[in-house]
Amino acid sequence: MELPDQETCYRALQTRDSRFDGLLFFGVTSTGVYCRPVCPARTPQFQHCRFFGSAAAAQQAGFRPCLRCRPETAPDLASWRGTSNTVSRALALIADGALDADDTNVARLSERLGIGERQLRRLFLKHLGASPIAVAQTRRVLFAKQLIHETRMSMTEVAMAAGFGSVRRFNEVFRDLFGRGPSTLRGEHSATAISPEAGVTLRLLYRPPYDWDSILAHLEARAIPGVEVVQNGSYRRAVEVDGLIGSVEVVHLALQHGLRVTICFPNVGSLPAIVARVRRLFDTSADIDTIDEHLSRDPMLAPLVAQRPGLRAPGGWDGFELAVRAILGQQVSVAAARNLAGHLVERHGKPIPAAQICHPGLTHVFPNAEGLAAADFIRLDMPAKRKSSLKALAEAAVSDPNLFRPFGTIEEAIARFRSIRGVGEWTAQYIALRALREPDAFPASDIGLLRGAGSLDGARPSPRSLLIRAESWRPWRAYAAQHLWAAQACAIPHRRNT
Ligand SMILES: [Zn+2]
Repeated sequence: MELPDQETCYRALQTRDSRFDGLLFFGVTSTGVYCRPVCPARTPQFQHCRFFGSAAAAQQAGFRPCLRCRPETAPDLASWRGTSNTVSRALALIADGALDADDTNVARLSERLGIGERQLRRLFLKHLGASPIAVAQTRRVLFAKQLIHETRMSMTEVAMAAGFGSVRRFNEVFRDLFGRGPSTLRGEHSATAISPEAGVTLRLLYRPPYDWDSILAHLEARAIPGVEVVQNGSYRRAVEVDGLIGSVEVVHLALQHGLRVTICFPNVGSLPAIVARVRRLFDTSADIDTIDEHLSRDPMLAPLVAQRPGLRAPGGWDGFELAVRAILGQQVSVAAARNLAGHLVERHGKPIPAAQICHPGLTHVFPNAEGLAAADFIRLDMPAKRKSSLKALAEAAVSDPNLFRPFGTIEEAIARFRSIRGVGEWTAQYIALRALREPDAFPASDIGLLRGAGSLDGARPSPRSLLIRAESWRPWRAYAAQHLWAAQACAIPHRRNT
């Protein structure tokens, strides 16, 4: 694991340097507590400090999370650590609960990633300084701690939401770690428990800078009528997870470098998965300084990065939904694709029961793969060929529930998508970029990218020459693409060619 030298680390905490927040944690041997570099507590002596690159590494070394600086609120940067895509994928699966039910699932997890268990452990040790199990356990503890501090959920709900499986296990882990039961951490507002159905509000911090205006404009231009609403600086959407319906609202907390997320959902067990989706959609985990600095080395991109520091690569809320949108967007404008998506939702989406409607603009959830695969015909005003690729996509998603999950290499994922009728290279790369959150995906034939590059370089490049140019942007080509799209006057990717 690459950490700066000890003196630099110590200076970061002496000066409470927020640039290290999420990248560096320190344990204090005299108290057994670990902290963020921005901890307001008195700076411990150098000889009592131990430095770690992840919360899991600190916790695995026997330290417990600080109650003042609250390591659970540090920007979640672990998923971008190093350049190991395997580690990023494994972390995404762990965030979805892959190791929650049973710790022996490490074998299955590594199998899903296409590598051996020992190799996975080695990669985790190298990039995170902790084992996969320690990472999963730390994630559970930190998420539970955040729910205890920031919500009024009952302790039983917190235990279930954080993936502990049983209240007993939850109590044991907290007693081991803090020497007292979890409810004692809550403080004054513990009296009334409020159910998650009425809304759970959490803060998700990111590492600044963050170009909120660009990401909100991106979402607004694509907001599907009935499913998503962008209004007064907030993003709302209707969500369906495992057949249950709820909603999510996200607003920017510029001064706190974070997002305020309000989730209304009937099943607390789905909270971590919903939070993970919000993080992906809003790309809050990007190590943006590293990315911006890397892209700035190219003289063509440098002015773009300077113009939009902190530009994020938005993810898709749901892999299937995103892939459907990509097909609807083939050869039409963003506005036309959005209209088509609205019609699809009206005709094939599930209406939200009246009692559950929390905003007049949210009336449906997006059609799922099963529904579209079973539909006799898809009622949409577009070429029959494209309708048949929607159908093929739905059928592929039904027969392979892991189609949009990160497995294997990016090349394998692209090949998997391309085997679906009507999905060509552009669409496959676009799905990889947004749905799989592949930071290196790059739809080189995209007309918007070619125009963006052409407006900077004078002559519009061919997809092939753009690909060659993009070699030096690896492993962050998705972010370079975002900058090129933004460089166009309308900041909207035009779609062409599958
Ligand atoms: Zn602290």
